[in-house]
Amino acid sequence: MTHFSQNLPKLSRRSLLGGVLGVTAATAFPSRQGHAGEALASTGEKILLSDGDLMDLEKSISGPVILPSSLIYDEVRRLWNPAIDHQPALIAQCNTLEDIQAAFQFARNHNILTAIRCGGHNYDGLGMADGGMTIDLSPFRGVEVDETNKVAYVKGGSILRNLDEATIPLGVVTTAGVVSHTGVGGLATGIGQGRLARSFGYTIDNVRGVKVLTPDGRHLRADATQNSDLYWGVRGGGGNFGIVTEFEIQLYDFDPTVTSISYTFPVSKAADVYKTLFELGEVVPNAMSLSGGVRTSGSGETTCSLGGNYAGPMAEAQKILDPYIKKLGDPLRTRMNEVDYLWLQGIADGDLLAKSATYYQSGFFNHVDEKIAEEVADYATKNTFPGSQVQFGHQAGKMSTMARDATAFPHRDTVFQFTTDVHWADRRDGPANRKFADDTWAAIRPMGSGGFYVNLAVDPSEADVREAYAENYDRLVEVKDKYDPDNFMRLNVNIKPSGAM
Ligand SMILES: Cc1cc2nc3c(=O)[nH]c(=O)nc-3n(C[C@H](O)[C@H](O)[C@H](O)COP(=O)(O)OP(=O)(O)OC[C@H]3O[C@@H](n4cnc5c(N)ncnc54)[C@H](O)[C@@H]3O)c2cc1C
Repeated sequence: MTHFSQNLPKLSRRSLLGGVLGVTAATAFPSRQGHAGEALASTGEKILLSDGDLMDLEKSISGPVILPSSLIYDEVRRLWNPAIDHQPALIAQCNTLEDIQAAFQFARNHNILTAIRCGGHNYDGLGMADGGMTIDLSPFRGVEVDETNKVAYVKGGSILRNLDEATIPLGVVTTAGVVSHTGVGGLATGIGQGRLARSFGYTIDNVRGVKVLTPDGRHLRADATQNSDLYWGVRGGGGNFGIVTEFEIQLYDFDPTVTSISYTFPVSKAADVYKTLFELGEVVPNAMSLSGGVRTSGSGETTCSLGGNYAGPMAEAQKILDPYIKKLGDPLRTRMNEVDYLWLQGIADGDLLAKSATYYQSGFFNHVDEKIAEEVADYATKNTFPGSQVQFGHQAGKMSTMARDATAFPHRDTVFQFTTDVHWADRRDGPANRKFADDTWAAIRPMGSGGFYVNLAVDPSEADVREAYAENYDRLVEVKDKYDPDNFMRLNVNIKPSGAM
């Protein structure tokens, strides 16, 4: 299991050989992509940054400014998904709020195409600007817990492990994702699905307030009473409106001993496994979170599985599941045990930086039935690409209790989310893998209820973005018009302001 330190040491300009402006750009700015000092403007044209400009930036922040000539450039620009090879003109690593403010001001003054990097886990590489500037929040991590009021104050560059490590040992928890090195910044502005979402809702449902640096340089508190339009938009609208420097997240009392569940069946049972999952979806308590589908292992074994977790004792989980599992016949493998939730939150971590490229297709279903189970099984069992999956994850529970317009995320009637993900280590295998995911999703999509989770999207069209936000789209445009009318924040699942061409 990978462990991450909650309070990373502050990065110092002086501690990084060759990555500092003083060593490199004072003589030249030898970008791999172009000429000295060249960067992309947010509007797409090339701009030139002088050595003096870059030195000013270097002087204004405590972290390093990393240029393409730096020895650590390739390491720092690397994102979780190795399919992404974005080459920024500069990366400003920010230790403090003042650093973020100064870097953002610089980016605005020069109108540079700008990405905000938190955990760097976005599948589409939105956390690293290709040719532009990246404001790297990853050194800006930390969580403070107010146990009395059950609130966590989370810095905008934190990862999920920071949040879990600060809360779970105190007997409190919130709901976030299933891989501990995912960034809070991207996840908690998307929706934030995780093991406890059926009990406590999406992460956005538990964001009680945020502090946001808006492109006009203001640092605003947004919650239900102040700047409530911004608060509404940030919960689901991603990084469209500014940089979230702090999330205030609701916590709950929690017994960290939970039951982890996994059954593996022969692939011939795929349709029955989907049907069983759908049946279980109607009866399980909110404390149980299940998903299931067809998966091909790295070694090429295709099986189907049903698994998840239950926030309660194993005997209770068995009592709920046994009658359904018996009908499916003997599993190839069964694993059910009581585990520590903090440990469970790291179980799917894999490598900090994935070795295989990843591509997703996904969508929501507000209705599932036997016909869907059979058709999906038909596609899923054609899947023999190592690492790939065709899955349904149970939603509903507390996630469905908010109104469609309570946050930017509208698909509150979802009962299951469909996902198919493919992975390849050899770039020559990319097209075939992507085609499998695209073809599968094209066949399954008409059975769904429309919309998808924006954080799983890869290069969505404008029509897709409208579909993702449905009737909330127009209100998001209003918020965008108010806080980012120039669409400076565009490296995200982009809500275009009404004045955009
Ligand atoms: C291994 C893995 C596991 C995952 N598991 C889950 C899961 O269990 N549940 C789930 O819901 N999702 C999950 N995801 C999807 C995840 O929510 C998205 O990939 C998300 O974009 C990751 O956020 P990040 O901060 O790591 O990304 P980054 O690449 O750093 O940033 C992604 C986007 O978020 C914006 N952003 C980041 N920080 C901020 C900030 N502070 N303020 C404003 N905007 C910001 C950026 O501008 C960018 O557009 C997973 C992804 C991976 C790769």
